[in-house]
Amino acid sequence: MPDSEPHITMIIIDTHAHVYVEEFATDLQGMAERADKAGVIKILMPAIDSATHAKMLETEQKFEPICVSMMGLHPCSVKENYATELKIAEDYFAKRKFIAVGETGLDFYWDLSFTDQQYDAFQRQIEWALQYDIPVVIHSRNSTDECIKMVTKNQKGKLKGVFHCFSGSAEQATQIIDLGFYLGIGGVVTFKNGGLDKVMKDIDLTHIVLETDAPYLAPVPFRGKRNEPSYISYVVQKLAEIKGISNEETGAITTANAQKLFGL
Ligand SMILES: [Zn+2]
Repeated sequence: MPDSEPHITMIIIDTHAHVYVEEFATDLQGMAERADKAGVIKILMPAIDSATHAKMLETEQKFEPICVSMMGLHPCSVKENYATELKIAEDYFAKRKFIAVGETGLDFYWDLSFTDQQYDAFQRQIEWALQYDIPVVIHSRNSTDECIKMVTKNQKGKLKGVFHCFSGSAEQATQIIDLGFYLGIGGVVTFKNGGLDKVMKDIDLTHIVLETDAPYLAPVPFRGKRNEPSYISYVVQKLAEIKGISNEETGAITTANAQKLFGL
């Protein structure tokens, strides 16, 4: 779609993309080339669990310095064996530096049978973020208020991070900003009837970082298809439209936020 493709001459950071998963197995090089063309200078990769840590680290090495790893345990991967999974992630932290802890948080959408364990895993990972003085990347599906409470409880002035894939209310956005956290905004803002565009109207861009959450949540016009970092330009364009400013200004502000938060 050469005519509708947003033309963006700027540098962008995709703060949340699982480009190491199966969906990119045969297309990693193409993904990286298209991201480069779209101005994406960094792709921050949230960990899921030990089934994919090796693949993530391999991808980081192959696309260094573009792809950068986080380390953690995804709330959807918190099951009977979560203590073992936490130990594996903890051992990685003892061995080397990571850009952030994540993704962690709470997921009350898919499965409620490990709620207590999810809280425990989240608390432990918040403590790692404090210990290593790096941001925590929070997944808060159907649990935004609960995640806000967890951050509030642990916010003694030092904790920093992002509510990834934020899609809550204006009130929740304000609470998160007051805690010193950023809102991770991606494809959902382009969805019709999503409501996030209205919430974003009143939120200052200085609190926003951009993300794709690839391979999930592709923006319009790719909704329902595999998402990838190059599509972040559609998120930039939509946010610019909502705020009534240029694509370039939107990119510059949100990139500066990501650089500040992640120390890039
Ligand atoms: Zn994710």
